Amino acid sequence: MNKPILPKNVAWILKKLNENGFEGYIVGGCVRDAIMGVAPHDWDMTTSATPQEVKSIFSHTVDTGIKHGTVTVVLNSENYEITTYRVEGDYEDCRHPSYVSFTRDLHEDLLRRDFTMNAIAYCESEGYVDIFGGIEDINRRIIRGVGDAAERFREDALRMLRAIRFSVQLDFDIEENTKQALKENAGLIEKISAERIREELTKTITGNAINRLPVLWETGLLKYISPELYDAVKKNSEQLIFQLKGIEKNTAMAYAVFLQYIDIQIAKKLLKNLKFDTKTTRLAEAILNNMDTDIDYTPAAVRKFAAKMGKEALSTLYKVKQAGGNSQGEKALKTLESIMDNGDCISVKDLAISGDDLLGMGIEKGKVVGQILNELFEKVLENPQLNQKEILQKTVGEKYL
Ligand code: ATP
Ligand code: MG
Repeated sequence: MNKPILPKNVAWILKKLNENGFEGYIVGGCVRDAIMGVAPHDWDMTTSATPQEVKSIFSHTVDTGIKHGTVTVVLNSENYEITTYRVEGDYEDCRHPSYVSFTRDLHEDLLRRDFTMNAIAYCESEGYVDIFGGIEDINRRIIRGVGDAAERFREDALRMLRAIRFSVQLDFDIEENTKQALKENAGLIEKISAERIREELTKTITGNAINRLPVLWETGLLKYISPELYDAVKKNSEQLIFQLKGIEKNTAMAYAVFLQYIDIQIAKKLLKNLKFDTKTTRLAEAILNNMDTDIDYTPAAVRKFAAKMGKEALSTLYKVKQAGGNSQGEKALKTLESIMDNGDCISVKDLAISGDDLLGMGIEKGKVVGQILNELFEKVLENPQLNQKEILQKTVGEKYL
């Protein structure tokens, strides 16, 4: 069995807690990752010390989420989150516990966690504290709710989407009772905020075991996030999985692929409702807008398209097309790469001549400057060889002076 190899700072923090008479463990995702032989991306710790006690032990701390018991300890400019053992009161709205209180009992804290694989604590002196059989579940690659899964989903409905997210990320099965509880409570996901849904959904559709994605609609959960999307992906499941497998793990690309089978206006509304940042929204929309456009992979056409869409969006679009098995997409991507390598002009800004140059040549100030630049740009898009100052000056001289 893999034993977590604690980074020096983490071991030091846990030792410090012990020296001051408190318990300290690593817990959650990092323990799960270590058991699976995966390098953890962060090291969450849990302790019997109250937030105030944690603050009195370490010289540099930040009150990250002190109300919920989380204090960040800063050590050699690295951040470590330490959360006091917590008990949660009844959940009134499928989202928030009515109160959060601290406890000195690790077991009580483990009880509030979502899945057995996430409810294991570890410290060097004691080894694993695994009261729900999480290690066995990890070894058998099973996601199982802690205690009564249905009750846990009713407390916090996001846990349902987390189950699916972990299944696709880790390539784990959802245990039968847990899956049944998910099906029965799927509608409660409507109570969860857009931001929390977005975060989990994004991790889900960019997960590695994309073959497992259908559980998102087979359990009915997706119906309550978007009924249109639910209907559409059920019908196009195979092609969708094939395409999602073929693309890079990129959020905008993944959503463009995911939303391509629904009406574009509904897709845009969904991106808006999920409150994506402007950059991701624009990129996903640019791809969606052109999903049905035929690809012309000749250099002039690709340059024109790049000028219109921007090279990042265009390259993303071609990659999506390529992942869908469209050979034109692959060819266009190659053309775009060589256009970029050559440094071909794809924006008025890339022209070898500027507005000031035109004024210097005697062109009158005003709209005409922009018009001439656009005209030159059109020519250069057709033939990048023309993007040389003398040639462009000559063209201007012949036509306008
Ligand atoms: P990741 O590797 O994606 O960070 P993680 O398991 O660390 O996975 P986090 O969202 O970082 O997931 O949460 C840390 C831990 O907090 C979880 O392992 C779990 O024990 C607990 N947890 C998080 N969210 C919930 C929740 N909604 N309900 C119950 N426990 C939760
Ligand atoms: Mg984590």
